[in-house]
Amino acid sequence: MVKRCRICLKADDDLIVPCNCKVNFAFVHTKCLSQWLEATLDDACDICKFKFICNKEPKSFKQWLMSEEDERSDIITMTILSVMIIYILALGCTFNYYTLNIVNVIFSDLMWSLTVIICIFFISWLAHFVQRKFDSFMNWREYNFNITVSENTERRLDLFSIIENNFSS
Ligand SMILES: [Zn+2]
Ligand SMILES: [Zn+2]
Repeated sequence: MVKRCRICLKADDDLIVPCNCKVNFAFVHTKCLSQWLEATLDDACDICKFKFICNKEPKSFKQWLMSEEDERSDIITMTILSVMIIYILALGCTFNYYTLNIVNVIFSDLMWSLTVIICIFFISWLAHFVQRKFDSFMNWREYNFNITVSENTERRLDLFSIIENNFSS
């Protein structure tokens, strides 16, 4: 009897028996079934209703970045923008400290106040951004798991005795 993965339909010896399905549907690649479960968020076989024996772990921050293109470009843009703002602020402070302070004290005070205001806005904007992205990641994590399905060993033993009996009779 040729064993085929019930999802990708390829014949293979490296298949597991994850549930109680009949011989034709019994075998599957761990990877195929895991991907299927990650996509559908099911945890039971839709044919025999057996609850799969699986290990479920929330996906990582890196996986979130890799899969969410919009979030990734948001974060890249924000990082570039932040570096630019910090650079401009640093330049402004240096100019203020070495040049304006000496030339015009009143104008210099004004520049310092402006710098402080920009800093406060920038920091609160950044904090808000980080909070929003963190929430978005945590929310995504509730529905995205790395799933590894284990074999239903009891059923595998049953199944092999069925296959053997059929073969000998
Ligand atoms: Zn497969
Ligand atoms: Zn099943």
